[in-house]
Amino acid sequence: MIDLAANFAYILSAGLFIYGLKMLGSPATARKGNMLSSIGMLIAVVAALASDGTTFEFIIGGMIIGAAIGLLAARLVAMTSMPEMVALFNGSGGGASLLVGWATLYLSPDSSIGGFTAFTIALAILIGGLTSTGSLIAYGKLSEKLNSAAFVFSGQRFLNSLLLLAIIVCTYLFCMDPSPDSIYLYGLLGLALLLGVMAVIPIGGADMPVVISLLNSYSGIAACAAGFAINNNILIVAGSLVGASGIILTNIMCKAMNRSLANVLFSGFGAAKSGKAVEGEVNPVSVEDAYYILEAASNVCFVPGYGMAVAQAQHVVKELGQILEANGCEVSYAIHPVAGRMPGHMNVLLAEADVPYEQLVEMDDINPRIENVDVAIVIGANDVVNPSAREDEDSPIYGMPIINVDQARTVFVLKRSMASGFSGVDNPLFFGENTRMLFGDAKESISGVISEFGS
Ligand code: NDP
Repeated sequence: MIDLAANFAYILSAGLFIYGLKMLGSPATARKGNMLSSIGMLIAVVAALASDGTTFEFIIGGMIIGAAIGLLAARLVAMTSMPEMVALFNGSGGGASLLVGWATLYLSPDSSIGGFTAFTIALAILIGGLTSTGSLIAYGKLSEKLNSAAFVFSGQRFLNSLLLLAIIVCTYLFCMDPSPDSIYLYGLLGLALLLGVMAVIPIGGADMPVVISLLNSYSGIAACAAGFAINNNILIVAGSLVGASGIILTNIMCKAMNRSLANVLFSGFGAAKSGKAVEGEVNPVSVEDAYYILEAASNVCFVPGYGMAVAQAQHVVKELGQILEANGCEVSYAIHPVAGRMPGHMNVLLAEADVPYEQLVEMDDINPRIENVDVAIVIGANDVVNPSAREDEDSPIYGMPIINVDQARTVFVLKRSMASGFSGVDNPLFFGENTRMLFGDAKESISGVISEFGS
């Protein structure tokens, strides 16, 4: 009877997850969707608790510790550190699945672990382990505690092939005799953790968005495997949903980079390329002169990037947009799919500032009409507007679609220095004839222009 009620609750939770995910598709409904999915998770946890009374204290304890960590993270982590936090959360999901798979061995008497369960335990340990260490490396690269470039060395592919072979052997031998004391279990655990490091170090620079979404997907697949190991339907469903949505996101990110997944995973981003030397004359512009140009403009397009997140300039950007509209100007916001440091980063920031959703334009929609834009205002974007991705075959980012701001009538680039972006590639846009560099913190520069409109 209790099992029947639990399964009914699981169906309800699964429905809430799916409906919540659907609502995440639009900024207007995203918050509600998040809330619905959280309620679904609460129902799932309570149902699991009710159908297995023995672990009651542990589940309540886990919920309290988890809620406390979530609350602290939400309060203490700066908005600019969100991408790193997401990477860590992916890693925690992988680590949790690893531990659930491992613990299953201690909860079941050796003789009762069948071949299929042993295999799912091995999968939970393998995918969970590689997700946790892979996410730690991704965290290091995103927070720039580690060099964000690809790390490649000779013999790397051979070593990885050996690693995979050793993993297959350990998995097979462990499944033949699944026990908590199996030496092959510990071998698999160590190799899985090593594989996570080895899989992520050769990926860097502009390819990182693909890794982030792939790790997200892995964390779901690991949870799904753990669900099979402990025979819990809702964990299987939730894991599959995360795994599948992560794969869809990975596909979107690959398309945004114009790369195949295999190319991202195995080629080593730009490791052997450096691109043509970029030089020329830079034309700086003052806040006053920027004001005069904007005052006369009838079509302005904001192109935000990671620097907008660093400067937390989204609110003043919206304010300037409103002023320009009141001045009779057409205003739009062009979003590149990999701008910022996490998928949807710019959408989140602009939604936070209540920028009307209709004014957001995707890269493929703005590019054909960019020549009609009087002023493209680049706010802390760099790689996603770098023309060498279009023109320089030797550039590490060659082939990545960009927002063609260089084809607008005038381009303002708001940044603090001539430094390169995340991929470390120089940007010829800064030397363009129609480019004016507005140096300084983006929030301060935009606030300065707003003051000029007011005076
Ligand atoms: P970039 O990282 O290319 O450039 C950001 C620019 O912002 C820098 O050049 C910096 O220049 C400027 N900046 C930093 N702080 C400020 C500030 N306070 N005011 C003004 N400017 C500032 O960003 P993009 O968004 O163009 O590109 C994203 C890159 O990150 C791509 O290579 C993408 O592949 C990668 N990536 C994306 C992920 C995703 O999921 N979206 C995940 C991981 C990586 P300066 O220091 O001179 O001010």
